[in-house]
Formats: sequence, C-alpha cells, structure tokens
Amino acid sequence: MSTNLASTERSTDPVVSIEALEFRYREGDFRLAIPNLLIERGSTAAFIGPSGSGKTTLLNLIAGIALPQSGRVVTEGVEVTGLSDSERRDFRIVRVGLVFQEFELLEYLSVLDNILLPYRINASLRLDRKVRDRARDLADRVDISDKLGRYPAKLSQGERQRVAVCRAVLTEPALLLADEPTGNLDPVNKWRVLDILFDYAERTDRTLVAVTHDQEILDRFERVVDFSEFHEYGEARPGQYGEARPAEPGELAGTGR
Ligand code: ADP
Ligand code: MG
Repeated sequence: MSTNLASTERSTDPVVSIEALEFRYREGDFRLAIPNLLIERGSTAAFIGPSGSGKTTLLNLIAGIALPQSGRVVTEGVEVTGLSDSERRDFRIVRVGLVFQEFELLEYLSVLDNILLPYRINASLRLDRKVRDRARDLADRVDISDKLGRYPAKLSQGERQRVAVCRAVLTEPALLLADEPTGNLDPVNKWRVLDILFDYAERTDRTLVAVTHDQEILDRFERVVDFSEFHEYGEARPGQYGEARPAEPGELAGTGR
C-alpha cells in the first residue's frame, strides 16, 4: 500500500484507496480519471456533482462491480482490481453495503426476504434469529414494518428505497455505499433514512459514502467530494459546499493542474 496516507487520530489505513485509475465504458466517450483518492476509515463522505459526472460509476468501481482499464482500487484492504469475477461478487456481498440508485430489489421476493437477501445468497453470512429481529427493527424505523410480506411491485418508489437501505445496513458492513439514498423520499422519511445511515456510520470504524444532490444534508457529512471537474482535471475538489470539512493534506492528493 502507498505511503503518506492521511494521518488522523482515528484511522490507520484508508477504507478506500484509488491510484492512477482510468475507466471508460465499452460504449460512449465518458472517461473517469482519478490519480489518487483516499477515503478515511470511519469517515462520512458525500459525492456530489452533475448527473453523468461518474458518481455511480465510482461507487461501482469501489465495490468491484466495474473494473477500470488501469489503476488500482483497494477497498477494505482488498485489491478489488486483482480479484476474479466470483471473488469480487463475494467480496461485495460480505464486505460492502450497497444502496443502488435503482434499488435492485428482487420482484419475486417479499420485502422481508429482500432485506434478508445478503444472508440468502452468501454462505458465510448466517441468518439467525438476531438477524431477523434486526431486519424487523430496521423496517420499523423507516416505517415499512407493515409491508414486510408485500412484493416490491406493490411498493412506492420511496418504500422501495427504504427497503434497499435496510438491506444494505443489515450485514453491518464496514463500508456503506449509498447512491442517492434519499432521492425519492418525503422530508420525514428522508431524515429517518439519514438517521439509520448516520447511526450506522457512528459505530467505530464504519464508513459511509453517499451520492447526493441534496444541499440540505451535506452539512451532516465530514467531507464532500465534488465530481463536477473530475474527468476534466482527474481530480476531485473537496470542501466546496456547505460546512463540509476540506480534505486533510495527503488525503486527496491530486495532480494535473
Ligand atoms: P452519475 O451517477 O454521476 O449521474 P454515471 O456514473 O451513472 O453518472 O454515468 C457517467 C457517464 O457514463 C454518463 O455519461 C453515462 O451516460 C455513462 N454510462 C453509464 N453507464 C454506462 C454504460 N453501461 N455504458 C456506457 N456508458 C455508461
Ligand atoms: Mg448516478
């Protein structure tokens, strides 16, 4: 791992370390170039930037869903760019919590079974009574506990989103990646979901990275990474919005200017 990592009172190694990343899709001319990006363990970071600037793409690269053409992505101490397809799949189910922009609920499973899904598809996660109780408790906190037996087709967008959030935090992953987790929610449910995400993040060494367009919630994050000039300059500029803390020296080392 590289030297000169961010040194703060709380962390040893970063939870995400990206070096010399270059990514493009097979089709189209979108290009993401990130010379160096570190996300500190135990921190909260918001990814902001215009639609199409690569926020979802970067979450997918961090989770090992997408692979870059070159460069290294180390997540949770694992070099995801060096894993096979099946290793990357297991890695993300067990080590990373994901709230997808499109929720990715399975239509043929009930709400409860969707929340429990990670435990059904990975043998190393044990589905026991405690897990079920936690699932019910989470559902209760975001006011969907009366819909546990329903199928996703009969849920509103906001309800689907809340199911996705419950599922992502249920495995208590060290890293939670949430793609616009409050995008479809009314104010009451927005704050309920944020409370779950930030409660999760307040536990020791847990990291929350969330894509958001909501200026109102940026103050809750310790750090803001702005994508608006990412591919142009190959560098994100933190701390341009709200009260967000600027990156520590060395935390986000960029080149190219
Ligand atoms: P954001 O989440 O910031 O809105 P995305 O990461 O979803 O942006 O997309 C970045 C760019 O990549 C956009 O121009 C989008 O059209 C393009 N893109 C996304 N997915 C694909 C794909 N599977 N194939 C080709 N281009 C894609
Ligand atoms: Mg997106």
